[in-house]
Amino acid sequence: MKSRPSVLIIGGGISGLATAWWLHKASVDVTVLERDRHLGGTMQTVHDHGWLVETGPNSALETTSLFKTLFNDLKLTDEVVYAGDVGNNRYILRDGSLHALPMTPPAFFKSKLWTLPGKLRLLKEPFVGRADAEETVAQFVERRLGREFLDYAINPFVAGVYAGNPEQLSVRAAFPKLYALEEEYGGLIKGQILGSRERKKRAEQSKDRARMFAFKSGMQTFPETLGDALGTNVITGSTAERIRRIGKRDRKTYEIKGMRKGRPFKLLADAVITAIPSYLTAPLIAPLDNVVAESLKNIYYPPVVEVFLGFKTSDIRMPLDGFGFLVPAKEHRKILGTIWSSSLFPGRAPQGFAALTTFVGGSRQPELTEESDERIVGIVSEELSSIMGVSGKPVFRRIARWQHAIPQYNLGHLSIIEQVERFEQRHPGMFVSGNFRGGISVGDCIINSDKTARRVQNFLENHQPFD
Ligand SMILES: Cc1cc2nc3c(=O)[nH]c(=O)nc-3n(C[C@H](O)[C@H](O)[C@H](O)COP(=O)(O)OP(=O)(O)OC[C@H]3O[C@@H](n4cnc5c(N)ncnc54)[C@H](O)[C@@H]3O)c2cc1C
Repeated sequence: MKSRPSVLIIGGGISGLATAWWLHKASVDVTVLERDRHLGGTMQTVHDHGWLVETGPNSALETTSLFKTLFNDLKLTDEVVYAGDVGNNRYILRDGSLHALPMTPPAFFKSKLWTLPGKLRLLKEPFVGRADAEETVAQFVERRLGREFLDYAINPFVAGVYAGNPEQLSVRAAFPKLYALEEEYGGLIKGQILGSRERKKRAEQSKDRARMFAFKSGMQTFPETLGDALGTNVITGSTAERIRRIGKRDRKTYEIKGMRKGRPFKLLADAVITAIPSYLTAPLIAPLDNVVAESLKNIYYPPVVEVFLGFKTSDIRMPLDGFGFLVPAKEHRKILGTIWSSSLFPGRAPQGFAALTTFVGGSRQPELTEESDERIVGIVSEELSSIMGVSGKPVFRRIARWQHAIPQYNLGHLSIIEQVERFEQRHPGMFVSGNFRGGISVGDCIINSDKTARRVQNFLENHQPFD
């Protein structure tokens, strides 16, 4: 193990690895510590008898050109698979039936997903004023677009993205771009039109236009390839436990203590980046700032169970002509939604079979995740039978349990992030990242990895080692 890296990154998930790559590319001496034997954190793929199971993210949206840069750097371009047009068809459950989410104005007016009064309510949107206090997603959407749009568009969407609850998530923290449309342009419809011009200038894609991709051999290809490219700069099976500021010793600023293969280790670094969940960041930085550490513990990560079931194609009555479906809370079901995995990307199921990935729990129904595997498969099978007309038993099953799945950017989240910013100012060389800051999607993690790497480089350029 190298004893004196200049920059130490704690966490070998996609956030930490991508940050390491940008720094490595800029010739910065960087080391990544990863607790597990495998890299990727939540991004894990399992191959089993012709089934390809994503136990974490199933895909990502190409919201930034940084993906292209990474794929070129890593020679990964040929491994990337894009979802075809079929990925644009999404269904939402209403009154027990699946309705296609309309993508054009005529389809919107024909859709049975909302009633006529619900649709007409949208016409008021450009005339609704700004809020004067921090709002939840539910408050924001109900105020601007009406209750029905909240119940049958945003509520299921929030379940699909955050496994979250719109009554708790802060609109400003969880959906900053949506919030900005009101702030900057005075409305969502106006903002959508004007904002697309600005995104073009920044070479960014809005999430509803960005292409969806995965990798031929699964999402884990991405962190694994990053790990291979970083080589000996990545140390797996190593858990960081404490970060301490040490002043002048060896001209380094931070001492990181941890455990590797049951043995304690100590490393010194000029700069440290934490790229791990907030509740794990807390004990690491507690010796530096106990108050910020306590705040970080308050970010809620609800549990989620990801249930991958394989069926004979002939046992599924409806055509799997889309991304899958989402379930609004108002429908009182026991699943959040299902991705039709084998329709989106090739190689997810053997010939003649279909792969369906269903999400259970989240902040809507965390108690369901305490059920046994057997019971959860039973619940999901019943729901798929009732919603999609799936008959017959699953021929393949794989369950992934995430005790702490996705950070919820609830009301008050931004004040925790402000505390983190002040913490970084008080401790030059400490950088806090991970998906609880700046967005939870893989795309957001990549955009943030680039920002963090730039901040670190800027720090190193202006950093005066101690005399
Ligand atoms: C079930 C699920 C489905 C998802 N689906 C999607 C999707 O379809 N599309 C999408 O864009 N996003 C999705 N996401 C979100 C996205 O996958 C994550 O936000 C992203 O992968 C997080 O990456 P990260 O590197 O920030 O954190 P993590 O993946 O959590 O990585 C952190 C790493 O740090 C390591 N670590 C922790 N503590 C220590 C320590 N003390 N010392 C050393 N190492 C440590 C961990 O072992 C882990 O490898 C999903 C998330 C989940 C949970």
